[in-house]
Amino acid sequence: MYTKFQQHLQEELQQIESAGLYKRERIIVSPQSSGIQVAADGQPADVINFCANNYLGLADNAELIQAAKDCMDRRGFGMASVRFICGTQDTHKQLERAISDFFGTEDTILYAACFDANGGLFEPLLTADDAIISDALNHASIIDGVRLCKAVRYRYANGDMADLEKQLQAAQAQRFRIIATDGVFSMDGNVCPLDRIYELAQKYDAMVMVDESHSAGVVGKTGHGVTERYNLRGKIEVITGTLGKAFGGSVGGFTTGRKEIIDMLRQRSRPYLFSNSLPPMIAAAGLKTLEILTRSNELQDRLHGNTDYFIGKMKAAGFDIKPTESAICAVMLYDAKLSQDFAAELQKEGIYVTGFYYPVVPKDQARIRVQVSAAHTREQLDRGVAAFIKVGKALGVLK
Ligand SMILES: *Cc1c(COP(=O)(O)O)cnc(C)c1O
Repeated sequence: MYTKFQQHLQEELQQIESAGLYKRERIIVSPQSSGIQVAADGQPADVINFCANNYLGLADNAELIQAAKDCMDRRGFGMASVRFICGTQDTHKQLERAISDFFGTEDTILYAACFDANGGLFEPLLTADDAIISDALNHASIIDGVRLCKAVRYRYANGDMADLEKQLQAAQAQRFRIIATDGVFSMDGNVCPLDRIYELAQKYDAMVMVDESHSAGVVGKTGHGVTERYNLRGKIEVITGTLGKAFGGSVGGFTTGRKEIIDMLRQRSRPYLFSNSLPPMIAAAGLKTLEILTRSNELQDRLHGNTDYFIGKMKAAGFDIKPTESAICAVMLYDAKLSQDFAAELQKEGIYVTGFYYPVVPKDQARIRVQVSAAHTREQLDRGVAAFIKVGKALGVLK
């Protein structure tokens, strides 16, 4: 049997390769940071990293590492259980409380990842009598979560409020309605228009779910996410998020919101019921992250300053940058091959970025996505801009 299947896989893999879509892992031989070492032909090379979700630079933060180590000494390595059997320590409960306080919500449930939080969100709450109205550019995990639920699905064009209104009108046919959206869309860096989504939700009797994975720690003056940006703290029924991006960069996800919703998830959400508890040290580091973000606004301010600085310089140099309100800066090149050549040339200049093209982004919308971090020094940002200008001129993108 396997011989035939093997041949089938080899052919498919070959097609992926010839379409130029084959994904290769790039090996890093240093901690994650704004400056990293990559293993290039056996020889480690120093590069400036512009493609991590390490927005606040916490991935190698000494306080987080110490908090994780201390917790490992006090509470051991793993839980060897799901939460409701014997996998809940005081640290897990403390982190859930701290996340609720951070977002101004009533209760929180932790997951192994935000992928699981979104995957286990809709099915326990809604039935075939209900409706989910989803932004067309929502993250894969929201799409999968919606697929696992029997609710009637509606989709609206990215951030298109006229289209959302139309879908909400159609969804009046169902019993309960929830609008689902990313807070920040990862390919453009645009923020969802949560103020208008909230208004429409009021008008059409719908609930709102926001995934703050790319916005928590980043968007809003104090990094409390899109609910801060739009003054909607405490008004949104469900927020999901990750500990894998700005919040320390390791693993872990959460759903936070109305207490009955969280309570029902604890009863019925499958990734919570049937998957292992977060390691205690991860919960302890999560707690430390939220402590760092609430005791001072230094990292948030530095990130916002760095983002404004980098984007300002790139625009002044003549690059075409997608409108963004996050730490994501999409440098538009439009042509798929150009995006790959550009990224390869940048790497030769010691600048680590990724070029994206169809089907990850729409056809003829190829780009390089730059992710700015609070950890970048001004010198690193200047070197990034200088390399972009040099390669941009060499490849005819800039005059
Ligand atoms: C990264 C991301 C996720 C997945 O988070 P993990 O914790 O890594 O599983 C979910 N939703 C959005 C919008 C994301 O950007």
